[in-house]
Amino acid sequence: MDREQRLLQELSNAFGPSGFEESIREIVIRELAPLSDSIQTDGIGSVIASLNGTNSNPIVMLAAHMDEVGAIVKLITPEGFVKIQTLGGWLDNALINQRFIIKTRNGNVLGFTGLKTPHVMKVEDRNKIIAASDIFIDIGAKDKEDAEERLGIKPGDPIAPDSKFALLNDEKIYLGKAWDDRVGIGAMIEVFRNLKNRSTHGTIYAAATVQEEVGLRGAHTSSYTIPAQIGINLESGIASDYPGISQEEAQAKLGNGPGILLYDSSMLPNLKFRDLCIDTAKKLKINLQFEVLSGYGEDGAEIQKSRSGVPTVAITVPTRYLHNHNSVINRDDFDQTVTLVTEIIKNLDTDTVEQLTKFS
Ligand SMILES: [Zn+2]
Repeated sequence: MDREQRLLQELSNAFGPSGFEESIREIVIRELAPLSDSIQTDGIGSVIASLNGTNSNPIVMLAAHMDEVGAIVKLITPEGFVKIQTLGGWLDNALINQRFIIKTRNGNVLGFTGLKTPHVMKVEDRNKIIAASDIFIDIGAKDKEDAEERLGIKPGDPIAPDSKFALLNDEKIYLGKAWDDRVGIGAMIEVFRNLKNRSTHGTIYAAATVQEEVGLRGAHTSSYTIPAQIGINLESGIASDYPGISQEEAQAKLGNGPGILLYDSSMLPNLKFRDLCIDTAKKLKINLQFEVLSGYGEDGAEIQKSRSGVPTVAITVPTRYLHNHNSVINRDDFDQTVTLVTEIIKNLDTDTVEQLTKFS
């Protein structure tokens, strides 16, 4: 196993629903600190690292979010079952009969979302989707007191999927939870590693943001902190190469190269910067996939809208089955994303960045 695989595996396995990013923040700081000239956290917990170039300008902001979709404990029933409040965009039918970890003051507690056995279900109920509000976590407690006293569970405790990284019958196909957006975090770390050994024109910032899945909140505050002149958000794209999903819904294929978002519900990219990315990919002979996603928001939107407006693009690693216990990426797509973003940043000098923001 090489360094990148070890890093991606650790990032995927790390516990970190929105607002509870401690474990992942530790990894990010451990990895980025030796590659950066400064590193700090902002008022809500995003990590902001910077790398000095030969000049102070241009100021480039890279971003990726640390959090994953998860939940918190809403209440414990008198019988000792946990009711939840979801954090982020879960489908109701992705929540049922799955294992979860609840992080408590006593440590991690295993639980799973119970589903009534079909033997006792009315025929008309068998095909019904169970609403998130009806879902409960079985933690094997005797009652509420046992859940509170012995297991240490209390309202507000964070909950994340219990899924472990695995190779999916191919050394390049990585199965795991939270690729949205741990694959972006991994790419950002590797881009910084590449840049550390070369001199860049300006100052490069890496923002590992919190609370993206509940409304791009960390990107909002980190874009305020970083005086960015240009922005690149690193995200998981949406692969549509499995049964039951169409090219109308999403366009990327796993193993077919990185993606660039031409449209998502939160942002339109800067057109000249978009073309610079397309041209750079062509030069590198990397196939860049175009993504047009109507139901998708990302941190790039907050960078773009910050200050007086920042030209921004979102570069993606195509991912199957986002926002689930199991999602899949291809290692080649990851490596090519790192190569592409490194090269894009290398080419960003003051003149180029000035050109990108010229509208007249
Ligand atoms: Zn994401």
